[in-house]
Amino acid sequence: MVRSDNSRPVASRSAVARSTVSRRFFLAATATTALAAGLALHRGARAAGTIKPDDKSALIVVDVQNCFVDGGTLPVKGGADVVPIINRLSKSFENIVVTQDWHTPGHASFASAHAGKKPFETTAMPYGTQVLWPDHCVQGSEDANLHKDLALPTATLIIRKGFHKEVDSYSAFVEADGKTPTGLAGYLKERGITTVFVTGLATDFCVAWTALDARKAGFATYVIEDATRAIDLNGSLAAAWKQMADAGVKRIQAADIA
Ligand SMILES: [Zn+2]
Repeated sequence: MVRSDNSRPVASRSAVARSTVSRRFFLAATATTALAAGLALHRGARAAGTIKPDDKSALIVVDVQNCFVDGGTLPVKGGADVVPIINRLSKSFENIVVTQDWHTPGHASFASAHAGKKPFETTAMPYGTQVLWPDHCVQGSEDANLHKDLALPTATLIIRKGFHKEVDSYSAFVEADGKTPTGLAGYLKERGITTVFVTGLATDFCVAWTALDARKAGFATYVIEDATRAIDLNGSLAAAWKQMADAGVKRIQAADIA
């Protein structure tokens, strides 16, 4: 497939992208019911240590970078807390993939790139509504580096995403235009992987979109909740859990992994 110019709106693609984004864009209006549903699902009883990853399973560690922890440009509350949990989980996995948010300077997801806009406001992009963020995770910066205590020597792939200047990419699989693949699905499938376990930052954006796209690509998908932390912008966390549950993403805790 030839990559299209992401800065140029194409009618048919825009229509697809809009429906994707509107389906996925998390608004406060749905938050109350979503929260109730999410909590109910969350309480499903499961004995500790009953899920044993095999050689067809992969741990996906999303965006555990300096930008998303205290001292970074877009800190997620408690973000660094996931580091020791993920390090411990990694011992149970033969296959580990790491992602990095990896933006150009002046990236279109930055509020600073839009006159009159402030961080956490939204704007209309050719592919749908975009939340505008503080400048973060700029390619090659210390801010974009993986957290120094993340110890994953057996990880085999780092996927960098959000590197097209005009398109964001919360998902590790498909950019926010809803069609440009990062190559991760191909990598996992060529290696015979059928099940993914998603961890990292942030639960309600890059983790959720990665998990939803993993389902769309046909992977059995788990999110290990206590190995994630959320931004929770206008009810986004509850809405994300609802969407993930509806898509068949299983919500588990680190203690569920053998
Ligand atoms: Zn980003």
